[in-house]
Amino acid sequence: MSDIQEFSFSTIGIVHSCYRQKFGIPRQPGLVTQATARIELLPPFNRLDTLEGLESFSHIWVHFIFHACLQDSWKAKVRPPRLGGKVKMGVFATRATHRPNPIGLSVVKLGNIYQDEKKVFIELHGADLLDGTPVIDIKPYLPYVDSITDAKGGFAPISTVTKKVFFSTQAEEECTAYQKKTGREIRILIEQIVAQDPRPAYLVKKEDKEHGMQLWDINIKWKVCGDYFEILRLEEK
Ligand code: SAH
Repeated sequence: MSDIQEFSFSTIGIVHSCYRQKFGIPRQPGLVTQATARIELLPPFNRLDTLEGLESFSHIWVHFIFHACLQDSWKAKVRPPRLGGKVKMGVFATRATHRPNPIGLSVVKLGNIYQDEKKVFIELHGADLLDGTPVIDIKPYLPYVDSITDAKGGFAPISTVTKKVFFSTQAEEECTAYQKKTGREIRILIEQIVAQDPRPAYLVKKEDKEHGMQLWDINIKWKVCGDYFEILRLEEK
C-alpha cells in the first residue's frame, strides 16, 4: 500500500462565468442551460494540442476546487437543500461544497474551443461554477459508461422546479435595456435561475424578504409572492 497521503495539483485553468457570488448558482450543472461560462487554460497548459479531439464530444467533466470555501471547515453530516434543510446526511452522500477535499465535479455541455492571441478558451453551457473557480482537470464525458439509465437517485431522484417567475414592468424594461447594451440574454437567465429557488432552507420561511443576486455587473432583486417569484428590478453595481 502506498503511504502517500498528500497530493498537490496545479490549476490548469480558471473559470470566467456570469456567477459573481455563490448565492443564485444552481445546485447542479445543466439546470440553467442559459448560463454561459468559459475556462481559460493557464500556462503551461494554454495550448490547443492539450485539447485535440475534445471537440468531438458534446459534454465534458470539469474537476474543480470550491475555492470560495477554502477558509471554512467541513462537517461529517450536512443538511442537503434537497431535504429542506431538515435532515442531515453524511457529507460523502451529498454534493456539499464543504468537504474534506474541496473538489467539485460537474458534467457540462461543451461549446467552442478557441484561441485568442496567447489565450486558449473552452466554452461551457449550463455550468454551476463561480467566476474565478480553479479547474484542475477536464475529461470527456463518455455516454457508453457515464450514462446509467437505471441508476437510483437516492434522496434526490428528480429535478425540482418550484414556482413560476414573473417580471415587473420595471424589470422587463431593464432586462431589455441590458440585453441591448451587452448582447447578454439576461431575462431568460434570470428566469431559469430563480425558478430553481436558490434560497437556502432557513430563508424559505421569510416570505417578504427581498433577495439580491449578482450576475455579471448587475444585482437582481426578487422576492416570493405566494406561489410565484417576482423579479423586481435590476441594479447596476
Ligand atoms: N456539480 C458540482 C457542484 C455541486 S454544489 C459537484 O457536484 O461537485 C453546487 C454549488 O457549488 C453551487 O450552488 C455554488 O454555490 C457552489 N460553487 C460553485 N463554484 C464554487 C466555487 N468555486 N467555490 C465555492 N462554491 C462554489
